[in-house]
Amino acid sequence: MTRRTVLVINCGSSSIKFALRREGDGQAILSGLAERLGGEQATLAWKAGDQREQIQLGDGSHSAAMAALLPLIEQHADQPLSAVGHRVVHGGEHFTRAQRIDDSVISAITANAALAPLHNPANLTGIHAAMDVLPDIPHVAIFDTAFHQSMPAHAYRYALPQALYADHAIRRYGFHGTSHQYVTNQAGELTGRGTAKGAWLSAHLGNGCSSCAVLDGRSLDTSMGLTPLEGLVMGTRSGDVDPNLHAHLGRTLGWDLPRIEQLLNRESGLLGLSGLSNDMRQLEQAAEQGHEGAQLAIEVFCYRLARSLLGLGAALPRLDGLLFTGGIGENSARIRARTVEHMAILGLKIDAAANTGVGRGAAAPIHADGSTAIWVIPTDEERQIAEESLALLDQP
Ligand code: ADP
Repeated sequence: MTRRTVLVINCGSSSIKFALRREGDGQAILSGLAERLGGEQATLAWKAGDQREQIQLGDGSHSAAMAALLPLIEQHADQPLSAVGHRVVHGGEHFTRAQRIDDSVISAITANAALAPLHNPANLTGIHAAMDVLPDIPHVAIFDTAFHQSMPAHAYRYALPQALYADHAIRRYGFHGTSHQYVTNQAGELTGRGTAKGAWLSAHLGNGCSSCAVLDGRSLDTSMGLTPLEGLVMGTRSGDVDPNLHAHLGRTLGWDLPRIEQLLNRESGLLGLSGLSNDMRQLEQAAEQGHEGAQLAIEVFCYRLARSLLGLGAALPRLDGLLFTGGIGENSARIRARTVEHMAILGLKIDAAANTGVGRGAAAPIHADGSTAIWVIPTDEERQIAEESLALLDQP
């Protein structure tokens, strides 16, 4: 059987990230990024195998970027596209799985924009631009929130008056669903249990960070909530703070809500704690050289991560393994080791040599003999989006 080809699109307000994926392949045929869209400096950069190229986009609109992408796709795909898979951040309670995009799906994504004002409108721009240039191909929306729609009410409800949930959809949604689903599926396969089998704690640690408890392919709880600010310490996001912080800052410093949003989303996390950088690699180097802010940021990051993972243990009947993924989770032996040190109560223990010996981009077990399993599993959200798009089309 010929393996089908899918274009994966992740559209932000000024960028389009894209990848051309062939069914079942671990690598993209073609991938790249259109950046600074909406301005005069817009560029389109891509790579295919060893070949890398970049062009300026005279017209920096999202539509122009999509139009410039078309000839590249024709050049690199050896067959017509079977689908375009679009990453959409917030699916609210409407969407528990991937959807073929039609007018009603577009209306629902638009309706959810109040919950993700920075993301959903940008995702819609990408959907419209791609549908304009590829009108005859099925377009599929994959939602970051959909995987977590299996959470029980005791995990997704805030202890707030019922009307805020019933009338305003205020509840915990969770994000990074595509990544948590991908790595827990992989963990089932790698440990011989079968895809989507097993009881896992998953830590996705990139610029955004979240943890998740997954049982047999179903998310039972996760650290992010109504928005991607809740939970873990992240690159520039604070994660959990006392909810009264807003009122306190308003009263004592006179800060308004936009200023506080800016503080919590852009000036906090690793950047705020270290006073140096949001980039973990840079913080690790600085910590080695004695930078106290970097050392503190790393300590808080690992401790809060361990605390979140231990808390998520409440959602699981047993633990088959702990999974690390994302730029930090896949590459930082130090963060993995320090986090697991705080989790000794679960009997988790790392094998130091295995932990430092994990190859870049490789999945590997890193636990010591006698410990519950601990794995590093590289995430591949684009592959997950491509395969979910095809799976949807295969349904009768
Ligand atoms: P995004 O969430 O934007 O996709 P990534 O998953 O690429 O981000 O993760 C970015 C983070 O991974 C950065 O903090 C970066 O410093 C960190 N990172 C990448 N490589 C390493 C490494 N070798 N050691 C420590 N941190 C790393």
